[in-house]
Amino acid sequence: MWLGPAPLSSGAGQLTGLSVQQHPSDNCGPRRDGLTPYLIVLHYTAMTSPEAALERLCNPDHEVSAHYLVGQSGQIWQLVEEDQRAWHAGAGSWQGVDDINSRSIGIELCNDGMSPFPDPQMVATEALLSTIRQRHAIPASGVIGHSDTAPGRKSDPGPRFDWARLARLGQAFAPISDACMDVDAVAFSRDLTRIGYDATVPETLDAFRQRSRPWVTGPLDNRDMALARAWAQAVDAQAASA
Ligand SMILES: [Zn+2]
Repeated sequence: MWLGPAPLSSGAGQLTGLSVQQHPSDNCGPRRDGLTPYLIVLHYTAMTSPEAALERLCNPDHEVSAHYLVGQSGQIWQLVEEDQRAWHAGAGSWQGVDDINSRSIGIELCNDGMSPFPDPQMVATEALLSTIRQRHAIPASGVIGHSDTAPGRKSDPGPRFDWARLARLGQAFAPISDACMDVDAVAFSRDLTRIGYDATVPETLDAFRQRSRPWVTGPLDNRDMALARAWAQAVDAQAASA
């Protein structure tokens, strides 16, 4: 089937038709308090076979699901209607609110957590993001990772996921700054909170780095400081123009 009323423009500026296979899961319910989606949460399945992932995401015993699953070859399955609440995010928060499931669309990417995401999978994900974002008027900054909402508890879509590629295509936000700033844990925590993170969790630095510089380990440094400030300022600018 075609997703959306007509072929839609992808972030790369190309017209893209999207073939989506229906594979309904009963693991869903109504969104709470009349909420509509304004976030898109990306996950990896921690398994490489789409068939195994489909089985798990439809199994009532597991009580997990997502709206979409994207395979390594670019196949897309829809499991839950977008107006329904899928069970993908669990406990966590973003920008001070919880029940992420009622506020989001969940996309599972077939990936074992260690392997690169193949190009056809990225292309399909970008096209899917583009159509969902247009349908619900979700800004690029609303595309986040599961690890962003639950630092320390969840690490997907993981350090191999190419956030910079999504950001170049306008399908996510990634902070850009060549600056360095003195290390100041209080100021960093304040900026993380402004971005949306629960900065009370120590692992939030790792979650932040997955989005900005996933190859870096070690204590908070002056580049983390500058990137968090740039991201927080972008959030402020967006709020001011909204
Ligand atoms: Zn996840």
